[in-house]
Amino acid sequence: MLTPSIERLVTELARLPGIGPRSAQRLAFHMMKAPKERSRGLAEALVEMADRLRPCAVCFSFAEAELCPICADPRRDPSLLCAVEEPSAILPIERTHEYRGRYHVLGGALSPIDGVDPGDLRIAELVARIEADDVVELVIATNPTMSGEATALHLADLVRGRVRVTRLASGLPVGADLEHADELTLGRALLGRREL
Ligand code: ZN
Repeated sequence: MLTPSIERLVTELARLPGIGPRSAQRLAFHMMKAPKERSRGLAEALVEMADRLRPCAVCFSFAEAELCPICADPRRDPSLLCAVEEPSAILPIERTHEYRGRYHVLGGALSPIDGVDPGDLRIAELVARIEADDVVELVIATNPTMSGEATALHLADLVRGRVRVTRLASGLPVGADLEHADELTLGRALLGRREL
């Protein structure tokens, strides 16, 4: 009973994480009943995002200009650098208001089984930044998973002696992503970070 255009919308929505076929249908029916401008607004927002986003030239987070808003902000402390796996980890750290340094997005975590080696991550760029920006402390905020821990140890071995290396304190749920940690826990883990 679905028309081709609704069918297409349901198919696209069902590709989103956490959205099954039923939720996709519910969302599609919701949009059908909503004023036309709402659908157009949603579609335009998606296209605009896809067209404008590019990696930040310095930290590899999302940017719409050469630099992301954080790298472009002169008030951020350049001597403090926080390494994360993905840009999605930056937002929860920002929400804690406990961190005033800059970030470096590695682009994943080491996982020999999946064929992810140091050369596949932006580790060389991280080391170059540490040397160029006179970084004093590297906060390693990879996820508290096996591959996240392996990445943390690899990074620590690589830059030890050049900078102070710290890791978020325990208390974070093991095996989860940082983006799912609540602000209070993450803020505490940040304040209680320890030498690695
Ligand atoms: Zn940046």
